[in-house]
Amino acid sequence: MKSATQIAADVRSGTSSATAELERTLTVIEQRNAELNVFLYVDVEGARAAAAQIDARVARGEDVGPLAGVPIALKDNLCQVGVPTTCSSKILDGWRPPYNATVIERLLDAGAVAVGKTNLDEFAMGSSTENSAFGPTRNPLDPSRVPGGSSGGSAAAVAADMTAVSLGSDTGGSIRQPAALCGLVGVKPTYGLVSRYGLIAFASSLDQIGPFAKTVADAALVLEVLAGHDARDSTSLPEPAPRLVAHVNDGVAGRRIGLVRELFDGADESVVASVRAAADALRAAGAEVVEVSIPELALTLSAYYLIAPAEASSNLARFDGVRYGLRVSAEDVTAMMEATRTAGFGAEVKRRIMLGTYALSAGYYDAYYGQALKVRTLTIDAFARAYQRVDLLLGATTPSVAFALGAKTADPMTMYLNDVFTIPTNLAGDPALSVPFGTGEAGLPVGVQLLGPGRSEARLFAAARVLEIADGRP
Ligand code: GLN
Repeated sequence: MKSATQIAADVRSGTSSATAELERTLTVIEQRNAELNVFLYVDVEGARAAAAQIDARVARGEDVGPLAGVPIALKDNLCQVGVPTTCSSKILDGWRPPYNATVIERLLDAGAVAVGKTNLDEFAMGSSTENSAFGPTRNPLDPSRVPGGSSGGSAAAVAADMTAVSLGSDTGGSIRQPAALCGLVGVKPTYGLVSRYGLIAFASSLDQIGPFAKTVADAALVLEVLAGHDARDSTSLPEPAPRLVAHVNDGVAGRRIGLVRELFDGADESVVASVRAAADALRAAGAEVVEVSIPELALTLSAYYLIAPAEASSNLARFDGVRYGLRVSAEDVTAMMEATRTAGFGAEVKRRIMLGTYALSAGYYDAYYGQALKVRTLTIDAFARAYQRVDLLLGATTPSVAFALGAKTADPMTMYLNDVFTIPTNLAGDPALSVPFGTGEAGLPVGVQLLGPGRSEARLFAAARVLEIADGRP
């Protein structure tokens, strides 16, 4: 399939048209969506109208932007005017947002065509997309396996060649983990680089929106469009979008890269082998790779599963049967809220709300939420110390390749452990990406993770590009 970079170039030059690119996308969706359950909603009419408008503008000689005519899939926790937005939850049944997320506005301004909304774990809580109220998404590389999660639909859209690029959100790994399991590039930007306005909040201090793509250059192209200050998100960094595409081929010569023991220890043998091979490839390209240990990272999974549910329990209080979506009627307002939330939320969401409410309750706040915040501070300091010695860090994205549907649904803890390598950087607020490197069990892709200090995205893309070339994707 054509890259987004190529599609935009073709549409801009008139070699192709937004309409032709969209129709190709719609055809593949038509062929594969019933089997894979990638899209919850395809906005055929809206997308066709948008594509026709792009083509008319190109015909008038206008510059339609860096994503001219690029069809893009959107995780269904991003608000799009008039388009059903569900978070894969029954509780938002029938709700259509009255406004666009900032990221959607920026994509449209850059000439992209929003194709539809993709499946996710309910409210982005999960690692396999099996927690969706609308059934799981299957991995296009092997439909008996999961695509990862929570942004599994957005990953599968790109892996199935439905769209060249898509958007996900990453609170504890939900872009990087499915990217790894589907053989894609997935980026969790620096906290605050991309506006969260219009992203339905899971854990606001951790959530970031980012791209999925088949190539490093495409991921950089999309992130450059998404990034930059937005007054509507109070945590948005007060600065313009960084230049990323221009630095993709900067290489790693002279860079110091830390191979972090805690970020691959315990992973499957094939994953460890890929990480070590990636270290060798970076060395061969002129980087100095040193082994480092950050023992604080051992505490981060526990801290995350207190902080994220605590924030979620507060954020999800707004779904009360009054303002959005589902309402189950009952004798009075309290009974109505209880009945609505009982019927509307799935088991994992309820578990998180209970965990979070407990961790924040008066008698336990210090012992749980307070302790977790201290671990978070230690994590931030530990990364900062590491980045005084090295420019980037390297590890695995996930402990294994894509696993079978149903393999980890019986015990929530086995599912949570999938994110042990991705969670630390969310707590720190630093950027990280996953790039495919090598293969593991059954020939499935392995993702290696590159991490850097805040605002080091250009550096991360340059290192990822080195690995992409070394892995045979020039
Ligand atoms: N899998 C993790 C969780 O369930 C992370 C999810 C995410 O990043 N949205 O919380």
